[in-house]
Amino acid sequence: LFISFEGIDGSGKSTQARLLAEALERSGREVVLTREPGGSPGAEDIRKLVLEGDPDRWSAETEILLFTAARRDHLERTIEPALAAGKVVICDRFADSTRVYQGVSRGDLRGLVDRLHALMIGREPDLTVLIDMDPAQGLSRALGRQGTEERFESFGEGLQQKMRAAFLALAEEFPARFRRIDGNRGIEAVARDVLALAATELA
Ligand code: C5P
Repeated sequence: LFISFEGIDGSGKSTQARLLAEALERSGREVVLTREPGGSPGAEDIRKLVLEGDPDRWSAETEILLFTAARRDHLERTIEPALAAGKVVICDRFADSTRVYQGVSRGDLRGLVDRLHALMIGREPDLTVLIDMDPAQGLSRALGRQGTEERFESFGEGLQQKMRAAFLALAEEFPARFRRIDGNRGIEAVARDVLALAATELA
């Protein structure tokens, strides 16, 4: 089973991905918790190339190629082997983040994202948990974190609103695998809902 978590910066998806991994492990499942961009040694190197340093180093198109290259490596080296071994893969962000961040924030490049995805990735999660969050709250959470390389958070609240709307639109585009969860609540309440969704998938 392949589960991805999506949402705007500060939505709490990384915490929820980890809590779900821990809960499934406690129930005896073998779980691989991974993330994007990154999730394999090569893809983690690409993550540094994209997220650290001068934000204008890459054009929007080159950045999409780098994210796609990272995802391909992550899929080959981490995700596919784990799924083949019968493990549950929980991924903090996957292709939907590229559809939203590169497709929306940097001009209308969704067509390019989709073509590269079809050519090089061609796989979607079985379940995508969208942690939906009020952008003002998400932003203050995200900015409160220390020592992250999240240059994209300088986008500000207006852009976060756009990202949130784009995630909600994607959820409507892929209703079979997307489940929206209200992230404007305590961690435990959100985690309970997430676990219930995963349990339904695993049943
Ligand atoms: O999820 P995480 O906080 O690790 O993401 C790191 C940064 O990369 C975030 O600020 C996110 O907005 C950005 N990002 C992006 N395009 C992606 C994935 C993440 O701009 N496809």
